[in-house]
Amino acid sequence: QQRQYAAELALQTITLDQKRIYLYINSGLLSSVDSETGSDSDGIGLYRTEILFMLKQCFPGEVEQLEIYRKVLKAAGNKPVVMRTLDVGGDKPLDYFPIVEDNPFLGWRGIRLSLDHPELFLIQLRAMLQAAIDTEQLHILLPMVSNLEEIDLSLIYLEQACQELTSELDKIVTMPKVGIMLEVPVLLYQLDEVAQRVDFVSVGSNDLTQYLLAVDRNNPSVSSLFDSLHPGVLRALKFAVERCSEHQLPISVCGELAGEPIGAILLIAMGYDQLSMNQASLARVNYLLRRVSQKELQQLLQQVLKLSSGEEVRSFVTDYCEQKG
Ligand code: PEP
Ligand code: MG
Repeated sequence: QQRQYAAELALQTITLDQKRIYLYINSGLLSSVDSETGSDSDGIGLYRTEILFMLKQCFPGEVEQLEIYRKVLKAAGNKPVVMRTLDVGGDKPLDYFPIVEDNPFLGWRGIRLSLDHPELFLIQLRAMLQAAIDTEQLHILLPMVSNLEEIDLSLIYLEQACQELTSELDKIVTMPKVGIMLEVPVLLYQLDEVAQRVDFVSVGSNDLTQYLLAVDRNNPSVSSLFDSLHPGVLRALKFAVERCSEHQLPISVCGELAGEPIGAILLIAMGYDQLSMNQASLARVNYLLRRVSQKELQQLLQQVLKLSSGEEVRSFVTDYCEQKG
């Protein structure tokens, strides 16, 4: 079956009722970017810059980051690349920057750390901007945002970086597209305000699930409770795409859910048209989505949302897929 999936990989993802779906790759390693992007995806939907930082013995400097980001953009051809600013903390430690906390997932993570260390943040933003000079590919994504002030402050630093580079390089460096990760649940209720500030939203369904359910995403003792198909989580995901659509704010999903067949089906049913996933999931999700009709999936979703557990959702959608062959 793998061969069947691969045979269609180069074809665009269009549902039976002609809805174009954009499939992107999640990446974090330069070596994987080369083989991953090619012509098969619509671009890189999540480039996790923290992997580069985790592989080093100290913070990589501006020139080093610039060279790597430039290679990543080049490997993507002229397709879009969503580069996420440093997202360490939580389950992603840096040996050379130890963080000791009782509750790491509720602690000093993602954008919080960058805003508390603007000198590091600015180096990263400057490296990204320089790498993308003369291209229109760059999208900058802010992780773990939990309030509007973090967005506003990040934009101020980004503007500062653009201005510095404009005067240093004697070339006009303009603002790239900027987005936020929707992974802290409270932002679901501030999407109207978010829409006035950023160009796109990317749902981190891994962390959004963790925080909605209060279940550690990596703790084996509670792993059976971690379920992105929990009907309450699905309602939150549906709510997010509806709110963003009202503002014509582009929204994608880059958590694991997007690369799982059941997840992809339900997300398309809700109205998502951009999914970002690991390379390994791309061919299968493309194959599947080319065989479904969004209209029909909307009816399926109505029934799914009435179910009472993730387990029921899983078996209901699996039955549907089996009926469809
Ligand atoms: C997520 O939280 O869903 C996500 C994509 O980010 P990460 O897995 O890197 O935390
Ligand atoms: Mg996350």
